[in-house]
Amino acid sequence: MGGFPKLGLDEKHGACLLLGGRGGKLPRMFERARVGGHLLQNGNRKKNNATIRAILQWNRRPQMAGSPPRVVVVTSGKGGVGKTTTTANIGMCLARLDFKVVAIDADVGLRNLDLLLGLENRVNYTAIEVLNGECRLDQALIRDKRWVNFELLCINKPRYKMPLGFGGKALTWLVDALKKRPEGTPDFILIDCPAGIDAGFITAITPANEAIVVTTPDITSLRDADRVTGLLECDGIKDIKMVVNRVRSDMIKQEDMMSVLDVQEMLGLPLLGVIPEDADVIKSTNRGYPLVLKKPPTLAGLALEQAAWRLVEQDSMKAVLIEEAPAKRGFLPFFGG
Ligand code: ADP
Ligand code: MG
Repeated sequence: MGGFPKLGLDEKHGACLLLGGRGGKLPRMFERARVGGHLLQNGNRKKNNATIRAILQWNRRPQMAGSPPRVVVVTSGKGGVGKTTTTANIGMCLARLDFKVVAIDADVGLRNLDLLLGLENRVNYTAIEVLNGECRLDQALIRDKRWVNFELLCINKPRYKMPLGFGGKALTWLVDALKKRPEGTPDFILIDCPAGIDAGFITAITPANEAIVVTTPDITSLRDADRVTGLLECDGIKDIKMVVNRVRSDMIKQEDMMSVLDVQEMLGLPLLGVIPEDADVIKSTNRGYPLVLKKPPTLAGLALEQAAWRLVEQDSMKAVLIEEAPAKRGFLPFFGG
């Protein structure tokens, strides 16, 4: 792995660590994780090395918890917080981990999952044509060129509104049809939900039995996430986890941004992932190349990969803080500088 950060999952506590490597292109960053009440941080690095080594598990595949297909809706209430980014990257990660994945872009009006995945030119048929009997389901499923066990299903052509009559029942019919395909049931069906809590949202959550609520650490996004969580629970979706996106440790330190712990206290949801603010996310969005496929890996990419692992294993963290390792300060530290 050379100088790149290593990724690990602590099976026992559901926490994970990301250790800064030497000489890599990445900033020396790592996650400080509260593991079973003990805080693993830079100062304790030596003391914790044994623990850290013990939990680095590159050479295993995550164990699927629950029975396939797991139908997971990715939602948030507020727009622009990272639902599509999370769906594309977690989906791609799951496919790379050898799971069969179908991502459904249920954000009909502002469809952009195809763009993030770089598949926009290959969408010839959509779910609407399937429902109208104009094509077969497998014609509307776009197989990714990089990972063939990843397929995308768009509901409608871009810039079209949600078609009249397309609702929760139609989406459930599509999900059931995916389950009955001769190729076999997918392991994961991820549904990228539109913003808001109106008809599009209700449609997207109808076939789901799990949810990922994406939020950013700001009050408007949190309020929407809380509202959405209540609606999901009302709909009978009890398995809800959250992804806190666009976290900036520098702002948290200056107390200009809520910490992940604050967010967790406010929403009371198990934590699936903490994704740092990372310019590479925007670059990858514009290139149609999911960040998790990027080499060398980037911080946000690794964080999304960890979230995918936890999703598979139904694992969640207590509290995690991502922060930059302090720069070396020469002799000064010796003199308490
Ligand atoms: P949504 O689907 O919730 O509307 P998107 O996934 O489309 O949100 O993300 C909105 C914008 O935010 C995109 O331009 C994306 O590149 C950017 N973005 C998302 N997550 C991050 C991040 N962790 N760091 C930097 N930019 C991000
Ligand atoms: Mg979106």
